[in-house]
Amino acid sequence: MTPTVPRSRTTLSPLTPQADPAIHVTGLRRTYPGRTALRHLDLTVPAGSLTALIGPNGSGKTTTMRILLGLDRHDTGAGTVLGAPLTHPARYLPAVGALIEQPALYPRLTGRTNLRVLAELAGVGGDSIHRALALTGMEEQADRQVATYSLGMRQRLGIAAALLTEPRLLVLDEPTNGLDPVGTAQLRALLHGLTSDGTTVLISSHQLNELDALCDHFVFLHQGTTLFQGDREALTTCQQAFVEAAPERAEQLVPLIQAFEAAGHGVRRHENRLLVDAGPEQAGDLNRVAAAHGITLAHLAVRRPTLEEAFFSLLGQEPQC
Ligand code: ATP
Repeated sequence: MTPTVPRSRTTLSPLTPQADPAIHVTGLRRTYPGRTALRHLDLTVPAGSLTALIGPNGSGKTTTMRILLGLDRHDTGAGTVLGAPLTHPARYLPAVGALIEQPALYPRLTGRTNLRVLAELAGVGGDSIHRALALTGMEEQADRQVATYSLGMRQRLGIAAALLTEPRLLVLDEPTNGLDPVGTAQLRALLHGLTSDGTTVLISSHQLNELDALCDHFVFLHQGTTLFQGDREALTTCQQAFVEAAPERAEQLVPLIQAFEAAGHGVRRHENRLLVDAGPEQAGDLNRVAAAHGITLAHLAVRRPTLEEAFFSLLGQEPQC
């Protein structure tokens, strides 16, 4: 995939100033018979951001995306997408590209012919097919039948289809599914290229560490409710910093835990490392405490919580920080 994106852009829906969020919805609720998919969902996606929608199975990610794309209805709640009301998806959908669940492709047709059919339906020209294939690195496989594609190739063709209209907002549900590490790195480069050109991307995935490296804005869902939303800085402010420490010898782990606890710190053990409740300014003190007990540290590092750690930590707290 090539991360460069041409400057031209469709203007099929009213333009929203970049300062306005691309998506702003509040209080979304969606119930099915005997099941509540969304209880109270608030979602703000800043324009030009790469926003991660994160949550365990069944937390409401796909339902949220389906409602935003006009594929499902909501019971209560309101909001806007690209400045147009959520209740009128026809006004904003021409400027939205999406890949939800498996891409719908004709297996007996080639990738290029599939895109040709979709381009015709969308009313866009042949140049857009060439561009979408180039962006997703699918040019070489374009003339093979889709039935012969790997899962990763299908995903990439699905993303190419979503890019045909040069959307201002791209919504991708679990797009890294089926991609190998090279494909994932190419997707990352593609999405960064798109956002640097002004496209907004909303992406859901279970691969939290992948999203950590990819996204600049994070929304955590739990049981159909927004647990947290904000940028990396807000997430870090929400979370207590900690220091990771490891002694030179494994048998020193227990004495080191006791020493840190006696100095007033909470300590968790993770394999051969200790995660100590202490701020960056206390790292030197921890080193001195270890030395005072005759323990040499082989590792001492201030750690920001990973996305996964932040998520599980937030699950144990009240919604929002
Ligand atoms: P996953 O990560 O497994 O894809 P998700 O976060 O995308 O999960 P949703 O697919 O949005 O979650 O589902 C949220 C809840 O709504 C789940 O309990 C699911 O069973 C339920 N649900 C979704 N669609 C329907 C439907 N059409 N009928 C009944 N229940 C549904």
